[in-house]
Amino acid sequence: MRNLFLLFFCTFLLNKTMAQNNNTDVHSFAQPQKAYITHLNLNLEADFDNKILKGKATLEYKNIAQTSQIHLDTRDLDILQITQNNQPIKFQLTEPKEYLGQALIIDINPQLNQGTLTIEYQTHPQAAALQWLTPEQTAGKKNPFLFTQSQAILARTWVPCQDSPGIRFTYTATIKTPKNLMAVMSAQNPQIKNSEGIYQFEMKQPIPAYLLALAIGDFEFAPLGERTGVYAENNTLEKAKYEFAELENMLQLAEKLYGKYEWERYDLIVLPPSFPFGGMENPRITFATPTIIAEDRSLISLVAHELAHSWSGNLVTNATWNDFWINEGFTVYFERRIMEAMMGKSYAEMLAYLGYQDLLHTLELFGKDNPDTRLKLDLKDRDPDEGVSEIAYEKGYFFLITLEKKVGRPKFDAFLHQYFQKNAFQGMDTEKFLEYLKKELPETQTIDLNAWIYQPGLPSNFALTLPERFIEVEKQLKKWKNGTPPEKLNTQQWTTHEWLHFIEQLPAEISTDELEKLDQQFKFSQSGNAEIITQWLQITLPLSYTPAFAPAENFLMNVGRRKFLVPIYKAMLKTEQGTQKAKEIYQKARKNYHSVATNTLDKLILEQQR
Ligand SMILES: [Zn+2]
Repeated sequence: MRNLFLLFFCTFLLNKTMAQNNNTDVHSFAQPQKAYITHLNLNLEADFDNKILKGKATLEYKNIAQTSQIHLDTRDLDILQITQNNQPIKFQLTEPKEYLGQALIIDINPQLNQGTLTIEYQTHPQAAALQWLTPEQTAGKKNPFLFTQSQAILARTWVPCQDSPGIRFTYTATIKTPKNLMAVMSAQNPQIKNSEGIYQFEMKQPIPAYLLALAIGDFEFAPLGERTGVYAENNTLEKAKYEFAELENMLQLAEKLYGKYEWERYDLIVLPPSFPFGGMENPRITFATPTIIAEDRSLISLVAHELAHSWSGNLVTNATWNDFWINEGFTVYFERRIMEAMMGKSYAEMLAYLGYQDLLHTLELFGKDNPDTRLKLDLKDRDPDEGVSEIAYEKGYFFLITLEKKVGRPKFDAFLHQYFQKNAFQGMDTEKFLEYLKKELPETQTIDLNAWIYQPGLPSNFALTLPERFIEVEKQLKKWKNGTPPEKLNTQQWTTHEWLHFIEQLPAEISTDELEKLDQQFKFSQSGNAEIITQWLQITLPLSYTPAFAPAENFLMNVGRRKFLVPIYKAMLKTEQGTQKAKEIYQKARKNYHSVATNTLDKLILEQQR
């Protein structure tokens, strides 16, 4: 998600957005059809000792319905005072609701069609968006670190705002940090530390609240290209420079596909390992997990994904979390097109097939009739985080592939190029997209759109054939099953993806002896590649393969990325001995994880009854 604009143009777009998206967001208390915010100015100090952010949020708003109150979203915030023109004004907080928080209702003048109000507040130490790391939890081990994760509805736990993806605003900020640390935001960023520890930020393009982001720590910047660079802790910076050396090239390939990059710079920040996601597409600066540093550039499709969000998500944004596939399905499609342009067709085919397998696993896990396997979700009275599954990503991707096949690639590319341009800085819901599709590509109307969008599972006629490079992997597997020893297999040219398929296809009834031999030859248990080790642990832990226990513990103690934690813990929970071990490890490791991860894992491990 990410972009830049002239101010008058922004205002025009905002009005347009509001008019178009009267789609009610069940995850926000805001009433944008009456009054909505247009600009935020933050002035915050980071207090690492008490784990709080404190200061002021000044909000500019428009009052379009002569309303006497504006509604904001908050959760776990201490509101100290609200003023307008330096005069205190009246406000109330409603009763807290689980995960939604509290509506902050502020009296405003119904006669004026715009205004500015200043909220003095501070956050709580347990604010769900904020992760305060002790020095031990960082890569460098010397200084504390703070990072935010606002998606989906956690921005309200650190900024009082209208926390709905359909409402966009520009922002400026002043952030005070301890003197030896640096701050970056989803905005124009510093590249060197300053001696006062005071940093100024500006985001000129309107963004939804979930793209508000802040990181504070002892990191440094290294340029990678004219518009690209990377921030990382000192001991990670060199590795990161190598891993992401292709970033500028990637950006140019993306622009060639679907038009100009609208956000000026594209930087990455490598966060400490407890970051719960692979990456978060904060505009101008993607927050990334260090688990994509494989030292061979084999996991950079994740960067292609976050970069692609600069168009799908940040420019054209899901209007509500029920339309999450609008962000993610398009992004996976775009990501794989970038990877195809960089690495060739046969490489992209492997990525797509691995995605297909993930999708089939998800469908099996959820059950084919589960309403959560529809592209258009219904998350009313639920935490929108529950909508995050492979469905939005992979079913969304295969839906777009189906459209591409129908009209041919050149036509589909022209369609997408125009889609991003015409709908830039606007919300997009599923129905609006379907209308747009009907108008622009009428030949797609013979596809069973209803089955793809509103029905669970996959349309019955959909299947993906095994790509060439995986056919080769399976040949080698067959040789191994027929007695060829591991060292005699032809695996020299394999990338991470071939290995993932190889491990995934190992027979269920494999013996400990056979696992050991494979492990000795291919060093799976010692792999520094997070994808490979996770795949290996998933297969071996349920078989009580004891050499896997130590690397599993090491991984779980040091990594906080939910995508890996969940399958590894699940694999452990499949045996009595593993369950015991999983509980022990979780007790020690839990403090290293972000709330986004512990929310999922508490349910999985602590509430687990065997
Ligand atoms: Zn994404």
